[in-house]
Amino acid sequence: MNETPKAAWRATVLTIFPEMFPGPLGLSLAGRGLSEGIWALDAVDIRGYATDRHRSVDDSPFGGGAGMVMRPDVIDAALDGAGGVGPLIYLTPRGRPLDQPLVRSLAAEPGVRVLCGRFEGVDQRVLEAREAVEVSVGDFVLSGGEPAALVMLDAVVRLLPGIIGATESLTEESFEGGLLEYPHYTRPQIWQGRAVPEVLLSGHHEKIRAWRRRQAEEITRRRRPDLWDRYHAATDLSEG
Ligand code: SAH
Repeated sequence: MNETPKAAWRATVLTIFPEMFPGPLGLSLAGRGLSEGIWALDAVDIRGYATDRHRSVDDSPFGGGAGMVMRPDVIDAALDGAGGVGPLIYLTPRGRPLDQPLVRSLAAEPGVRVLCGRFEGVDQRVLEAREAVEVSVGDFVLSGGEPAALVMLDAVVRLLPGIIGATESLTEESFEGGLLEYPHYTRPQIWQGRAVPEVLLSGHHEKIRAWRRRQAEEITRRRRPDLWDRYHAATDLSEG
């Protein structure tokens, strides 16, 4: 081996539940990558940076209302203490939606720092002062940022060089060409009276490619008109 050893891609997660990490990311492809040193994960306990004797990280909101807000001074100290590399991401339903281009750009960074909110969220001032990028994993409300962080990190880690063997399986899948993926089939060839589409048994690679493309287009058009419009605009431009 004469490759220069590359520094591991590093995730630094700030949370009041560090025991949730690596969690599912300690298994399967991500877990193997973790033990092989392709990536590294530090889960930093925000509570360790609380200063009062109750170790409180939250307080009631100015202006009143239900719930508690995470204190900017505690988060700030935790960010200083945690170190880490790359952009700071705050997971919040208010953020820009997580999508494959954002996932790809994070994989190209040396790492990422991730702030997981709890309660009603984090004091706005520390997000501004630290120039946090606000990211959402979907239009629904979780009880904390930790499951969102696991989702985001899973999507990024599988793109790191050395995690998934066949790069083809990365370029062919949903979103990479602007389309959702075509359906898959394996043995048995007939299952509960349902046959595999004939063309897939033909051995005719050109026909198979065309069939898969049609399926991908059809499924995208029906399920995700938003993606379909964008795809269409892009191909019209490149073909016109
Ligand atoms: N009051 C907030 C929701 C708080 S949920 C609001 O209405 O926007 C508590 C924490 O869970 C948030 O601080 C955030 O870190 C995390 N969270 C909840 N839903 C999320 C989502 N869809 N994407 C990313 N993070 C989310």
